[in-house]
Amino acid sequence: MNVFSHPEFDNHEHVSFFCDPKTGLKAIIAVHNTSRGPALGGCRMFPYATDEEALRDVLRLSRGMTYKSALANLDLGGGKSVIIGDPRKFKTEELMEAMGRFIEQLNGLYIAAEDSGTSVADLQIMGRNTKHVAGIASHPGFDGKPSNGDPSPATAYGTFVGLKAAVKHKLGITDLTGLKVAIQGIGNVGYRLARHLHEAGAQLWVYDIHQDQMDRAVEEFGAIPVSADDILSLPVDVIAPCALGAVLNDQSIPKIQAKVIAGAANNQLEHPYHDEVLMNQGILYTPDFVINAGGIIDVFHERTDHDADKVRAHVESIGETLEEIFTRSDRDQRPTGVIANELAEERFEHISAQKEQATHQFAKAG
Ligand code: NAD
Repeated sequence: MNVFSHPEFDNHEHVSFFCDPKTGLKAIIAVHNTSRGPALGGCRMFPYATDEEALRDVLRLSRGMTYKSALANLDLGGGKSVIIGDPRKFKTEELMEAMGRFIEQLNGLYIAAEDSGTSVADLQIMGRNTKHVAGIASHPGFDGKPSNGDPSPATAYGTFVGLKAAVKHKLGITDLTGLKVAIQGIGNVGYRLARHLHEAGAQLWVYDIHQDQMDRAVEEFGAIPVSADDILSLPVDVIAPCALGAVLNDQSIPKIQAKVIAGAANNQLEHPYHDEVLMNQGILYTPDFVINAGGIIDVFHERTDHDADKVRAHVESIGETLEEIFTRSDRDQRPTGVIANELAEERFEHISAQKEQATHQFAKAG
């Protein structure tokens, strides 16, 4: 298995492998870039078929976190960890404690948060052996209400802010009354996004694989339930993918009638080139890793200050970042995802250069 020459390696600063035979823990921590600060990212537990699959996932996700944090203007770098194994079969308290010890060995270079296969409770168990875990403390959320560490409310609010920015840019609409929005996935984020949109006067169409999730949106928000096949191709203004990745692909894109895509799901584009396909079809794609950053912003503030107004203002800055991306995209006639990556690189490379200069001056002064 190659590491330095791995196609996803992308100059990672640090990759470590951990094995604890007593608990069966096999884990990898990848730290992509710490120029803006310590690397914060989720700890995923998944039954990877091979070690190579686990390495690929952790490298790809860790790099993504560098870009996400930079675009959210956070003093954080990008990192991620994976535990190899089926969480429903192999997750034990001892294994999570061992993961905590592993994280502690990195001395704060990496800070773990919840991800698929791990819960706030698991992070709390890891926290017995390390303080470098995030998203576990109760604190006032962005809306001033008590939060138990769940990032979903902030993610949903950030997605709402981003959707408004996209609609304003593409359709010139600032009043959402009567705006037609189709939401795919009415889970933790999708449900809350639906509530924000309903309160702003939007008309909703929904689909979720779980009937009870749809029923709730129908009852509470007067949403119209539709089928899996229809949700992305309805004649609406906006589609908001809030379920799973790779939903924007060669099959779905030609059928999309909405002019704006703005949802929280991670990795919505099946392939990077789909960004350009959407642009050529006259559809404004809101890059997922920009619009769904509310959660990481919330987690960051949980560790630094607990000021609800600051968190809210920070989450709202997602709208300004998106406006900058949309404007550059129009100006250069290049896809929004490509522009978002470039803007992130500007933000973390700029800080690196500043730090290097400061170190150089410090050395000279000595
Ligand atoms: P969730 O599991 O609470 O909700 C997902 C919903 O999608 C569920 O109701 C599920 O039944 C539904 N679903 C699954 N497959 C579907 C399908 N094929 N079609 C329609 N619905 C389907 O997850 P969440 O926390 O709401 O996250 C939603 C998305 O946003 C995920 O892609 C997640 O990675 C991303 N995201 C979430 C956060 C956060 O703070 N929760 C932060 C960043 C990104």
